[in-house]
Amino acid sequence: MEAPITEIFCSVQGEGPYVGNRQVFLRFAGCNLNCSYCDTDVQISEACKYEENPGSGIFQYVRNPLNPDKIADLVGPFMNVHSLSLTGGEPLLYADFITELDVGFPLYLESNMTLPDMARKVKDCISFVSGDVKLTDEFQGGELESHIERTIETFKILRNTENRDCFCKIVMTKDVLPADVLDVAGFISNYISCLVLQPVTQNELRPDVRTLLELQNELLGDIDTLIIPQTHTMWGCL
Ligand code: SF4
Repeated sequence: MEAPITEIFCSVQGEGPYVGNRQVFLRFAGCNLNCSYCDTDVQISEACKYEENPGSGIFQYVRNPLNPDKIADLVGPFMNVHSLSLTGGEPLLYADFITELDVGFPLYLESNMTLPDMARKVKDCISFVSGDVKLTDEFQGGELESHIERTIETFKILRNTENRDCFCKIVMTKDVLPADVLDVAGFISNYISCLVLQPVTQNELRPDVRTLLELQNELLGDIDTLIIPQTHTMWGCL
């Protein structure tokens, strides 16, 4: 089993309730969505960038695709790591590959939560789930309905348990309707440990502070709700 990987590096988690934890990041190429605010290059490339010395900015290039043994070799030298962040792109596109990973520390899945059949395959090997709800204008009418159904189903499969922390992150742009956030939060609140409202990093796309605070206040009646922006962009780390 092999998968196309864009980058492997050691840094700290920049988003959500685990912000600041030291992680190794495994960035998969390819995504099944096309969010308007996406700032990630999801193209499959010939080589994976690998930063052996954290923060050095010096990269080696390893030919794609990679197998789980090669990932274990590349990840092995990193020390004092909280978890391996499976990020992308959309890691669940490579669910079979994920089940074969053996890197010696817990797996932390960052997913757009729209692939329930793939989620079923990985549910027993993931310790942390950072699940997004994508409320973008990409989806309209009936399409939005089935997108939300898939999202809820995926949260149900990867829900919070004794052995797995599952939380939800919603990137808040000006176009996200608070009513839609309240709706979807109502459906998934039993499956998650907390909800993070993440104001989008691009200034011109961000909703105003009052809107976010009012929404947080309404959500807090049902679910622990945090407002946390992306932090790695503030200090220039990967
Ligand atoms: S799900 Fe993530 S990687 Fe995929 S298009 Fe949206 S923001 Fe980009």
